[in-house]
Amino acid sequence: MNEKLLLNNLRNIPDYPKAGIQFQDVSTLFKNPDCVKEIKEELVRIYKDKGITKVVGVESRGFVMGGILASELGAGFVMARKPGKLPALTCKASYKKEYGYDTIEIHTDAIEEGDVVLIHDDLLATGGSMQAVYNLCAHFKPKKIYINFLIELAMEGLHGRETLGADKDITTLVTV
Ligand code: IMP
Repeated sequence: MNEKLLLNNLRNIPDYPKAGIQFQDVSTLFKNPDCVKEIKEELVRIYKDKGITKVVGVESRGFVMGGILASELGAGFVMARKPGKLPALTCKASYKKEYGYDTIEIHTDAIEEGDVVLIHDDLLATGGSMQAVYNLCAHFKPKKIYINFLIELAMEGLHGRETLGADKDITTLVTV
């Protein structure tokens, strides 16, 4: 995979959303068709033989490549959304953020026991949000759950990988 292409097109925004944070802006990847093609082809290469039946995209930046990947793999696409956004019956999981808690939901009929699930999000920082989505998906007892991020933040003090645990099947395309 052309890691350089992705790294060169990822935009760093200093002090967003607050002072001291270096925000990795993936909108500059998504607006570049060469980057989207590179990401799509790499994700298809990794997951094409895994029997994935559902791709779960995490709101909202996980919807972009998650939707494309689901289509490429011939899998269904499931939205993991912020509270109050999904119209039918949902199950919810809460997770700790820097200040306070947040909640994520998916529809109760989104996943079945026979499914092989790939959860996709744009970026791994502390791993808190992915852990919550993983717990939601695991509740349905699918055959297997894979996890993918486009970007892994390797900054000190985040411990995203440790939070998710060594037993998880995780891939990331680039580390920043
Ligand atoms: P975590 O739960 O701490 O791992 O944070 C990951 C979640 O926050 C993902 O859903 C990301 O979209 C979002 N996020 C955190 N930091 C960044 C960033 O620098 N760029 C883009 N998204 C971020």
